[in-house]
Amino acid sequence: MNQLTTENFDRNARAALGDAQLRGALRNLAVTFGTRRKSAIATVDDWEGLRDRARAIKDETLARLDVYLAEFAENAEKAGARVHWARDGREACDIFLRLLKEREATRVVKAKSMVSEEIHLNAVLEKAGIFPDETDLGEWIIQLAGETPSHIVVPAIHKTKAQIADLFTEKVGIEKTDDVDALTKTARRVLRERFARADVGISGANFAVAETGTFLVLENEGNIRLTTSLPKTHIALIGIEKIIPKFADLDVFLKLLPRSGTGQRLTTYQSLITGTKRSADGEGPDELHIILLDNGRSRMLAHPTTRQSLACIRCGACLNACPVYQAIGGHAYGSVYPGPIGAVITPQLVGIEKAKQLPYASSLCGACREVCPVKIDIPELLLHLRAAIAEGEKEPVRRRTSEKLAFKAYAFAWSRPVVYKLGTKISRLLQKFVAKGDKIGKQNGLLAKLAPPLGAWTAWRDAPTVAPRSFREIWKDELEKKD
Ligand code: SF4
Repeated sequence: MNQLTTENFDRNARAALGDAQLRGALRNLAVTFGTRRKSAIATVDDWEGLRDRARAIKDETLARLDVYLAEFAENAEKAGARVHWARDGREACDIFLRLLKEREATRVVKAKSMVSEEIHLNAVLEKAGIFPDETDLGEWIIQLAGETPSHIVVPAIHKTKAQIADLFTEKVGIEKTDDVDALTKTARRVLRERFARADVGISGANFAVAETGTFLVLENEGNIRLTTSLPKTHIALIGIEKIIPKFADLDVFLKLLPRSGTGQRLTTYQSLITGTKRSADGEGPDELHIILLDNGRSRMLAHPTTRQSLACIRCGACLNACPVYQAIGGHAYGSVYPGPIGAVITPQLVGIEKAKQLPYASSLCGACREVCPVKIDIPELLLHLRAAIAEGEKEPVRRRTSEKLAFKAYAFAWSRPVVYKLGTKISRLLQKFVAKGDKIGKQNGLLAKLAPPLGAWTAWRDAPTVAPRSFREIWKDELEKKD
C-alpha cells in the first residue's frame, strides 16, 4: 500500500476511532514511551539548554544550508563516496534504478529509512523487478503485511503479537507461535541469509556531518550495520535537512534523539560512515553512493515560518504526546509522516491541495511543542498552514460559511461587555439541560439535536460548563472589598 490517502483523512480517522485494538496499542505506546522519555531526560543536567543548543545548530545550518551541503559533498567524495543530487522523488528513484542496473543488482537489502518511504522507493524497485528486503524487524513485518509504517520510529506499533504470529505463519511458513523470542529468531534466520547474498544495501541517515563527510545511523537491531557493510555497494538516501556543520555537534544530537525517541540514553548501535572501506581486505562496501534529496525541502527553507520544519530530527516524540495521534494512529493521516510533524510536513511535501485536512488534525494543545527536542513550534506551523488554506480557498464551501458566521457572532458577543454578560447568563440557564456535573459531553444526545455543530464537537470530548460565577462577579463581591 503506497498510495497517499491524505485527502481521506476524515474518513480514515473515523474508521480508526472505531478500532478498539488499535486504540489499546496506541495507549500503551503513549504510556510506555512517555514514561521512558521522562526518565531518560532526567539523566541530563540541563535538558532545556541542550534543546536550545540543538535548535541553534539547526538554525545556523539552515541559514547556510547551501554552503554546508557543498562542504559535506566535497568531504564525502574525498573519502571515496560518490554524491548524487536529486531534486525530487522521481529523480532519486531514477538514480537508484540506474545504479542498480549498472551493477546488475537484483538482491537488495534495506535498512529502515523514512525518506525512502517518502519517495515510495520499494514500489518503484518492485516495478522494475527488484524486490528489496526490509531488514528492520518492524519494517519487515509491515512489508510482509503489505502495509505502510504507522509511526516514524516504531513502524508496526499498530500490530498485536497475535497478528504478527499469524503473519509469520502465512508468509514465512513457520508453525504458529506467540513466543516473541521464537518470532524474533525466525526473523533473524530469514534475514541473515538475505544479508549474505545481497548485491546492494540501502540506508538512510540520521545526521550528515559537513566537516568530515560522515553520516550517522542509529539503531537497536544491528541490521543497519549489516546492510551498510556486507554488500559490495551501499547507497544512502539522505534528505538535505540532515546536514549538521561539525562532528562535535553530534554530541548534542546523540543526547537528544534516543532519549526523545525511544527513551534510551543511547541506541544499541551507532554507525558512523565515512567513505568506502579503507583497504582491499578491510570492512565495508567497495562503493558508497550518497543521494542528497530535496523533494520540496527548498520550498520549506524559503519561508521564515516553514523553515523550522526542517529542524526535525524524526524522533517521534510529538506523535507519542499528541492526543489526536493517540486516538487514531498513523495510517489515518494517509502519509508516511503521521502525527503533528506529519500534519506539518506532508502538506508542504505533497502540496497543500492534497493534504488540506491535516493541519486541522490538531487541537493546538501544544503538547508536541513541549516535547520536541529541537523546539519546533508545531502549533505555529499548523496555524500558518491553516491560514494558507483559508487564503487559497476561492469559493468557501457551505460548512466554512457557517463556521465563519459562528466566529463573527462569537467576536461580536465577546467584544461587547453587555452582550457577553447576557450571553453568559443565558448559557448558564440553558446548560442545565445538557450538562452532567461540570461537563457537557456525549452522554447527552439532546445537545446534538438542539445544536448539531456543538453536538459533533462533544461527541468525542467533554466541554466544561460555564462557571456559576465569573471572575468579575467574584472580584466585585469578595476580592475588591478585601483590598
Ligand atoms: S517535530 Fe520534534 S518531536 Fe516531532 S519528530 Fe520532529 S524532532 Fe521529534
